[in-house]
Amino acid sequence: MAKRPFPEPYKIKMVEPVNLRSREERERAIKEAGYNTFLLKSEDVFIDLLTDSGTGAMSENQWAGLMLGDEAYAGSKNFYHLCDSVKDILGYDLVVPTHQGRGAEHLFFQAVLHEGDIVPMNMYFTTTRQHAELAGGVFKDIIIDEAHIPAAEHPFKGNVDLRKLEALVKEFGAERIPWVVLAPSVNMAGGQPFSIANLREVRQFCEAHHIKIALDITRIAENAYFIKVREPEFKDTSITEILHTICSFSDASWMSAKKDGLVNIGGFLGLPEREFELFDKLRNMVVVYEGLHTYGGMAGRDMEALARGLRDVAHFEYLRARVSQVEYLHSRLADAGIPLVNPCGGHGVFLDARSFLPHIDQDEFPAQMLAAQIYAAGGVRSMERGNVSAGRDPKTGENRHPKLELVRLTIPRRVYTQTHMDYAADSIIEVWEKRESIPGLKFVYEPPILRFFQARFEPVG
Ligand SMILES: *Cc1c(COP(=O)(O)O)cnc(C)c1O
Repeated sequence: MAKRPFPEPYKIKMVEPVNLRSREERERAIKEAGYNTFLLKSEDVFIDLLTDSGTGAMSENQWAGLMLGDEAYAGSKNFYHLCDSVKDILGYDLVVPTHQGRGAEHLFFQAVLHEGDIVPMNMYFTTTRQHAELAGGVFKDIIIDEAHIPAAEHPFKGNVDLRKLEALVKEFGAERIPWVVLAPSVNMAGGQPFSIANLREVRQFCEAHHIKIALDITRIAENAYFIKVREPEFKDTSITEILHTICSFSDASWMSAKKDGLVNIGGFLGLPEREFELFDKLRNMVVVYEGLHTYGGMAGRDMEALARGLRDVAHFEYLRARVSQVEYLHSRLADAGIPLVNPCGGHGVFLDARSFLPHIDQDEFPAQMLAAQIYAAGGVRSMERGNVSAGRDPKTGENRHPKLELVRLTIPRRVYTQTHMDYAADSIIEVWEKRESIPGLKFVYEPPILRFFQARFEPVG
């Protein structure tokens, strides 16, 4: 039996209507969208689990903050409030604001990398890897093997395999590895956390080899929650103290505030005092690419909402309700026998489309079709994270055939109710019950890059 989620430590003040189209209308809409959920109109979606990025609901305190926007071009008071929040909640002394996460990644990698530098990461994230490569870096995956196996149970699938990092140092030499980049709650692995014990070991290793650590802290609060409930050493430690501890292992960080920042737009880089030189470089670059160093592409009111969002997110009761809502959807589906990525991650539920639709060849895009079927069944929008997203190998022109062929159901923060989760689960179970009759897909239009956004398909046969 699915475990009931913990109650949310807030109530609803304002509502936004959503449309439940008829089955006929949904079938027409997904066909017109070329079986690609990115091409659906938001108006035709009943429950939108496409992404948790910028889709959350702000608190009354954040909305009140919007009215206190200081839209001065330089030195906005909201910027200084943001700096105070980053210091209080995360411990960083120095802040460079950016319009969102990828703006920060662009500045960071351009500032620190040289052509051919090796950039070890715990799995990859699309924009992070892209910006590292644009700056001349060569991505290497150092996450533990379990992260690539959907059914493998491990409490910290986001951990680094120290042997993989050591092997890179042996092969390339530490001088070609200026930075290791780690992300909490690893998105592409299913929202899987790292442990502080692992982080400590990585830090020790890196210090011995004069390698610095950058953290992509986009989903740091959800990782902090998992540390509190899964790592016994921290069971009596507050979320804020855990956040400080995680950040203390890093030499630089950045955040897409659209996730754990609890805002619809925003981002920043955070650095400790001792990295003033790098901070100064980033501060000089931000004025070229984003905006003045006291707003970085955000309006004053956006910085105020973020300053308040960081304080909202660091509450155990909020995180417990958030993660347990995700876990509730996961266990409803697990109870029905549906194959999933285990254990459940912090921000979403990932369906193992290969096992769900074993009769569909990976080159007929089982995850793409599964996402389309889930929409047709109930108006629930999800995202393919498999063969279509992985793209083609530029050398061979073949599909990349990633090990993970997944459909991602990401839960926006503070937006949906338990009834919505039940409804989404029932829609997916409906698809599960008729899975054998579902055909694969073929391309009718395939864009040359990042094809998943705009590709169009039709059913095979
Ligand atoms: C979303 C995300 C980014 C990119 O941030 P944007 O705000 O979408 O530009 C970078 N890293 C991780 C881990 C993310 O989840």
